Amino acid sequence: MKFNPAQAIQNLKQFGEFGGVNPSVTDSSTYTFLQGETMEDTFHGQMEGCFLYSRHWNPSNKYLADALAAMENTESAWVTGSGMAAITCSLLQLCNSGDHIVTSVTTYGGTYAFLKNWLPKFNIEVSFVDITNLEQVKKAMQPNTKVIYTESVTNPLLQVSNIPELAKIAHQANAKLMVDNTFTPMIISPAMLGADFVVYSMTKFINGKNDCVAGAICGSNEFVGQLSDVNDGTAMLLGPVLDSLRSSNILKNLNTLHIRMKQHSKNAQFLAGNFEKSGLKVNYPGLKNNTQHELHKELMNKEFGFGGILALDFTTLKNANRIMQKMQDAGVGYLAVSLGYFKTLFSCSGHSTSSEIPVEVQKKMGLSEGLVRFSVGLDNNIEDTFQKIMNCI
Ligand SMILES: *Cc1c(COP(=O)(O)O)cnc(C)c1O
Repeated sequence: MKFNPAQAIQNLKQFGEFGGVNPSVTDSSTYTFLQGETMEDTFHGQMEGCFLYSRHWNPSNKYLADALAAMENTESAWVTGSGMAAITCSLLQLCNSGDHIVTSVTTYGGTYAFLKNWLPKFNIEVSFVDITNLEQVKKAMQPNTKVIYTESVTNPLLQVSNIPELAKIAHQANAKLMVDNTFTPMIISPAMLGADFVVYSMTKFINGKNDCVAGAICGSNEFVGQLSDVNDGTAMLLGPVLDSLRSSNILKNLNTLHIRMKQHSKNAQFLAGNFEKSGLKVNYPGLKNNTQHELHKELMNKEFGFGGILALDFTTLKNANRIMQKMQDAGVGYLAVSLGYFKTLFSCSGHSTSSEIPVEVQKKMGLSEGLVRFSVGLDNNIEDTFQKIMNCI
């Protein structure tokens, strides 16, 4: 039996102090102490049910973090005000000046920009590799490599990372494997496959409502302790705290994630299969002919499907723009960046979410200028959506 992340969340008993079926929302930035000694202990990291200040920990964020740790089967988790905060704080916690990171060249645009433009300012060296080429990954490792960074299913080309093999390469070199699992919560459980840290943009599928920006880091107690250390914890000192009202909303949405992921996957699988039959250039790991299909199948928790993201190549930007505008007018969904929403969202990756990546690099990594990424919604009648899309092409 594979690990079941949905069951792990369902098994939690999280309720409010007055018996409310949802935990109460923390409405405080600071907390009283009955004894002076307790405050001192809390400062030294022994919190044991005590809260100090909401940038450090607060009850609402703790409930959400506990649920995420259950979902990933990690010892602990930490929530942040954005996915970028989760990624940047984790990497900055692990790397000092003079260290080195090996990363997939196909990552979220913001992540790429941070690795390419921001980290070198602090003398942290980054090598960009084709993450599906394990020999290339091995060759890129250096004595000062601290982290291999990748996405479970990369944005926007939907390449699948071989997490167990990447973990082996990292661990042999005394480095850590960090995986961004934003595209495939529940579908892939990176920590169960050997990843040391799992990061998320909860803005996407986990929250699923596109009403806020949020992130998470799942890992060991030791790592979360380091991140939140009052003296030198990156998350504590850079301070990207998630607001507790938002975090209590995300916790409620997390409890329906398994149903949503199944429906996103079912709809995307239907569209991808029919696009393929219609002769369109479609990229979806759920298709048998897809180069990533077998690996994805091997890594996934099967009942959740192959995810809600697919890409169609309309060859030219002009063509892509024309079709996207028509689809929006026809009510297929919205021409918007982001993903994991209950409505279908589509955007032209090279000119939006991956525009941080230089055009030559885009070409080299196989990102066509007419590539349109779809985040398939929860449509009840996906046959009808398919017809609407075909009428626009
Ligand atoms: C959106 C996204 C991010 C960044 O998250 P924010 O919540 O926007 O800061 C990181 N990784 C992936 C794969 C994303 O899709």
